[in-house]
Amino acid sequence: MASAKPPAMKILLASSELHPYSKTGGLADVVGALAKTLARAGHQVGVVTPLYRGVRERFPEIKPFDWHLDLPLGNCRVQAGVLTAQPMENLTIYFVHQAEFYQRAGLYQDHGVDYPDNAGRFIFFSKCVAHLAHHLPWQPELIHVHDWQTALVPILIRHQRLQEGWGKPPRTCLTIHNLAFQGTFPRVHYELTNLPLDYFNPNGVEFYGQMNCLKAGISYADVITTVSPRYAREITTEVLGCGLDGHLRSRRDALFGILNGVDYEEWNTTHNPFLKNSYSLARLAGKAMEKLALQTELGLPRAADIPLFGNITRLADQKGVDIQQTALEEMLAADLQFVLLGNGSPVYEKTYQTLGRRFPKKVAVKIGFDRGLSHRIEAGCDFFLMPSRFEPCGLNQMYSLRYGTIPIVRVTGGLDDTVIDAAEDPKRADGIKFNEYSARALAKSIRKAMVLYDDPKLLRHYRRNGMVTNFSWDQTAGQYLKVYDLALHL
Ligand code: ADP
Repeated sequence: MASAKPPAMKILLASSELHPYSKTGGLADVVGALAKTLARAGHQVGVVTPLYRGVRERFPEIKPFDWHLDLPLGNCRVQAGVLTAQPMENLTIYFVHQAEFYQRAGLYQDHGVDYPDNAGRFIFFSKCVAHLAHHLPWQPELIHVHDWQTALVPILIRHQRLQEGWGKPPRTCLTIHNLAFQGTFPRVHYELTNLPLDYFNPNGVEFYGQMNCLKAGISYADVITTVSPRYAREITTEVLGCGLDGHLRSRRDALFGILNGVDYEEWNTTHNPFLKNSYSLARLAGKAMEKLALQTELGLPRAADIPLFGNITRLADQKGVDIQQTALEEMLAADLQFVLLGNGSPVYEKTYQTLGRRFPKKVAVKIGFDRGLSHRIEAGCDFFLMPSRFEPCGLNQMYSLRYGTIPIVRVTGGLDDTVIDAAEDPKRADGIKFNEYSARALAKSIRKAMVLYDDPKLLRHYRRNGMVTNFSWDQTAGQYLKVYDLALHL
């Protein structure tokens, strides 16, 4: 007897960044891969995202769509166009084109400073999402919004339903990719929502007298997810709840932790356009060549036998770059090399550039965002450092595992869920973990890594375990579908 295939769903995702069109971090990768996986499984999928500067030039297949938006934003009306792309069957991307808001140098900020009109930019974007949700002819039944930039959508949909009538409004799912970013703005900005004050209370949008977009989503989304099971537990505690732990506890029954997947079409070590050498578990020689090529590219001495540590990161407090710098100061007396690709806080950018200048034979620092180099660092390094203070999921440690690069991670959030230390299971060990948030604990892990490096058999055992792990998106998307299904049957 043939097993019954579950019916296809009609899903509209909304995100302020989307791979391959725009990206500042993991959010773009996750939404891009989720959309693709759902579409491939036969669901009808749309994604709404802003049209940022340069996107149209890089993707000439993006075409104007016969749709004009004219929506209130406080006392003004704002117009926007919609463009579309259809990268694969069942998947349509809707780009909101509002030149004044989105055609800028950065997505959210310039030179490390947030744009002062971010409230207006993303309240408007959320209104566009709610509008499309209502009027798209294919009538999506589930709207999946991501992070604070689109977290007002559930409330906008609810209000539209109450005001204008909306026969069968879609259900909503909010994913929190990082609770530290909440979209908190002075109360005056609430006027830009054009919502009545009824929602501005501590059970809705208000957070100590201010408006808090993420809190609005937590209050009004039908279901809430975050990006790893451990982080789902952590955000309901005072330590990592960023002031919203009580509110999240009150929605515990609707909160689920779903581990991000990896897009292995993009993150693989064979036929990768960013790598010069193909390699696999059976043919690791290519990895050794990538190491030499990386050393050359970044101006370090070419040395096959010196352990090479790497990090690709936003230079922000969250990422533990302060303890990393202190640990490196201590460890650089030993025979090791370190490469960093990152950008963010000007203070950290300077700190690391100085470190690079002081140790030109041991440390290479690239400030900037460079997709190709990020692949080459993952491939060329022996170890990857992720000493995060907190980490909702983290993607680089999962990429590292697949690239045969051993992750050194702090026990927090998704880092704990994805890496196995020898103390947990020596047979399956694929990384090194430490608990205490301190340079001392990180330095100790770096020393452990150097001991491991000197034991080729054990090193291969770790690499093997890492390279065979499979964080496939099919599994992740399957879990999202279950949560969507739950929302549809509430
Ligand atoms: P977060 O989203 O908190 O920044 P994640 O580990 O979830 O951290 O995702 C970061 C993503 O951004 C990864 O795909 C990583 O490779 C990429 N990334 C971060 N910084 C850079 C950079 N400077 N250049 C290229 N890619 C980067």
